[in-house]
Amino acid sequence: MAEGTQSTRRAAVVTGSSRGIGRAVAEKLAGAGFDVCMNCSSEGGLAALEQAAEELSQRFGVRVIARVANVASPEAATELIEAAFAEFGRIDVLVNNAGITRDGLLARMKDDDFDAVIDVNLKGTFNCCRAAAKRMMKQRYGRIVNMSSVVGVSGNAGQANYAASKAGVIGLTKSIARELAARNITCNAVAPGFIDTDMTDALSDKQREAIGERIAAKRFGTAEEVAALVRFLASEGAGYITGQVICIDGGMSL
Ligand code: NAP
Repeated sequence: MAEGTQSTRRAAVVTGSSRGIGRAVAEKLAGAGFDVCMNCSSEGGLAALEQAAEELSQRFGVRVIARVANVASPEAATELIEAAFAEFGRIDVLVNNAGITRDGLLARMKDDDFDAVIDVNLKGTFNCCRAAAKRMMKQRYGRIVNMSSVVGVSGNAGQANYAASKAGVIGLTKSIARELAARNITCNAVAPGFIDTDMTDALSDKQREAIGERIAAKRFGTAEEVAALVRFLASEGAGYITGQVICIDGGMSL
């Protein structure tokens, strides 16, 4: 069912939505009647992002815009949120999905690799939350969904930077939840296990097989399955859920 009526249609910003989980989330929210601001960081990706936005707009009869912004930059993140606000007149939902990996073992991990992952995954989430919260507080309504990872809960050899960033997202999420709950703004984290996207494409068949053995469901998840969870947390009906970390991992972390 659509969120809001034509005149008060709800609006969402989904960072990192040019492919993978973010793209599926943008599609799910547009299908649920949200106006959506899609985003990626690479200028070269703008034409494809605009095309995707146009497709979703045509398919679901909602407004979908495409904006390039590197969420790691506080200025760019604020511009992204404000561009969406200028277009839609409101920001009801923020999905902080943009994320990167720069894997390596601790002893060999370069400063740049540690910093880049923290800057995008954690600082980028903070940048967008801060900018969107200003609008949401005035509206006295908001749903923030932050993309963490099971790796942020359990850690992972070879991913000290990524795990630290995703654990940081959990602390950030819980703090925001406490700060903004009384204003009807929820903030939750989604912690996917292994999901079939470009990010996990780099794994060899042998690695995939070994990982598959650790997953109770014996398969990787799909971006659409994660999007369905995000869509629920983004809905009005999820208003009494806040500060939670919801694992979506086929039982891997049991
Ligand atoms: P993906 O296929 O690599 O897509 C990442 C998206 O983020 C792209 O749209 C990318 O576009 C964008 N992005 C990257 N850096 C950005 C930046 N600085 N500013 C704005 N956008 C940026 O990744 P995915 O697998 O869908 O993962 C999405 C999220 O889920 C990430 O936060 C990831 O950590 C998390 N996650 C994924 C898995 C998994 O198994 N796939 C598991 C747990 C958690 P550009 O390249 O054009 O910037």
